Amino acid sequence: MLKKLQQKGMIKGFKRTPQRLAILDHLDGNKSHPSAEDIYRVVARKNPSMSFATVYNTLHTLVQAGAVRELTIDPDRKRYDPDTSGHHHLICLGCRKVVDIPGDIPVDVPRGMSNEFSIVGNHIEFYGICSHCGKPRK
Ligand code: ZN
Ligand code: MN
Repeated sequence: MLKKLQQKGMIKGFKRTPQRLAILDHLDGNKSHPSAEDIYRVVARKNPSMSFATVYNTLHTLVQAGAVRELTIDPDRKRYDPDTSGHHHLICLGCRKVVDIPGDIPVDVPRGMSNEFSIVGNHIEFYGICSHCGKPRK
């Protein structure tokens, strides 16, 4: 999806360089909600000329263009999601794994508030312990 947007020139401000394209390639269809550090670690392996600043700046451009969603569910670092469709997230408080919650969760603001605001979206964060982290230690 991201790659298609880029090929059509639909990502505003995106400059095509081998480094930036490698970042896009890594993010396209990525379901792991990586941080900038995670992305850098992987793409720098194949692209030794990659700098962390390039990863950071590219992410900023993609978020500004609405092509990537920035998540603040992890208190330690921002996480990035190439899936910009409306969906919610669940984080494991042990390993900080972030997974998608598919489907709609019916929620609404109290009646009085919708007079003052027109609601354009929502994002629900769930916290839990994954089955791996919940296993008793041997
Ligand atoms: Zn876990
Ligand atoms: Mn997601």
